[in-house]
Amino acid sequence: MGRLVMKFGGTSVANIDRIRNVARHVKREVDAGHDVAVVVSAMAGKTNELVEWCRDASPMHDAREYDAVVASGEQVTSGLLAITLQGMGIQARSWQGWQIPILTSDAHASARILEIDGTEISARFKDRKEVAVIAGFQGINPQTNRITTLGRGGSDTSAVAIAAAIRADRCDIYTDVDGVYTTDPRVVPKARRLDKIAFEDMLELASLGAKVLQVRSVELGMVHNMPVFVRSSFDKPEDIDPHGTPPGTLICSEEEIMESHVVTGIAFTKDEAQISLRQIEDKPGVAAAIFGPLADANINVDMIVQNVSEDGKTTDLTFTVPASDYNRARDTITASKGKIGYIRLDSATDVSKVSVIGSGMRSHAGVAAKAFKALSERNINIRAITTSEIKFSVLIDAAYTELAVRTLHTLYGLDQA
Ligand code: ASP
Ligand code: MG
Repeated sequence: MGRLVMKFGGTSVANIDRIRNVARHVKREVDAGHDVAVVVSAMAGKTNELVEWCRDASPMHDAREYDAVVASGEQVTSGLLAITLQGMGIQARSWQGWQIPILTSDAHASARILEIDGTEISARFKDRKEVAVIAGFQGINPQTNRITTLGRGGSDTSAVAIAAAIRADRCDIYTDVDGVYTTDPRVVPKARRLDKIAFEDMLELASLGAKVLQVRSVELGMVHNMPVFVRSSFDKPEDIDPHGTPPGTLICSEEEIMESHVVTGIAFTKDEAQISLRQIEDKPGVAAAIFGPLADANINVDMIVQNVSEDGKTTDLTFTVPASDYNRARDTITASKGKIGYIRLDSATDVSKVSVIGSGMRSHAGVAAKAFKALSERNINIRAITTSEIKFSVLIDAAYTELAVRTLHTLYGLDQA
């Protein structure tokens, strides 16, 4: 007998039929004797609709009221799943974030979980075998007593945090894919599902564009050493052996992974924009003059490359920002043109960042060099590069994204046999 958190995303609870399907998954685990807490998202598309309504009501809406509105999607699905479970003869009760409570910071729309009191839920496992159906994505700020939300995709984070709070054996994330792949299978049909992946690698994959899990949930899993299992909610609930090993990907600590490749996976994102400042005077303080104002404007700079200009006397500086911040970044730079002293500003928004990830890189030299060669053989020009211990990224023309991803996937032996 164990204790499980089962999280279901928006497509898994998109209508009453699918909620029934979810209930059967829950029943299977309850029948197997487990204590179960379920965390649900809003029905697919619901949160987008609620966000849209807030914008419609007023483009400059109050963040506290935004959270009051968008948290409602999860309230609906948690109630509906509790009703469905009860209809099947299973003891179940829904819980909103404030009822548990899930205490968070007051950063509305991107709040962080501070503390979860798991006592009542655990007591009800013991006393009544009651399933807890918890609304994901939401919490409450203890100072203001206001409802908060955790940022888009936040139910993943709710699930892992709750798993840690009730000391679950595992957190199962049921979703519309059957695990974590070496890259997006829609781009590379030969992408392979990983049986296991280390927290660190998953953290990079998620941060660099893989959309399976909210980044914060992986961080939390790592901090609490909570195994997270990504699996499909569309498998027939009754076909699954609750004591067997179903298809899926286990995200766990590195020590538990026997077989390890140098490269684990390849991620990509088209959400970046490039800004290049030409012919900047090469003197101390220039980088500060550029990146200071961007930091003040809360714009995250990702890749940075500096090199000598064509004239040999000045310097060129290229950097990337999130595409959504591109206009603001350009305006911020233009406003300090006098201080920075560049001659020309070039920019590109049709770029993409392709990243190669693998904790095996720590102990292997020349991993990136191989990629640069393979890309050049395909005539793919690299606009910027960043590297760290367990990953490197290249910025390329967006038109070449798929070719680059496929090339690297084959290069590092990730293709399915
Ligand atoms: N419903 C929220 C969203 O769409 C939270 C989640 O699904 O994880 O972002
Ligand atoms: Mg999600």
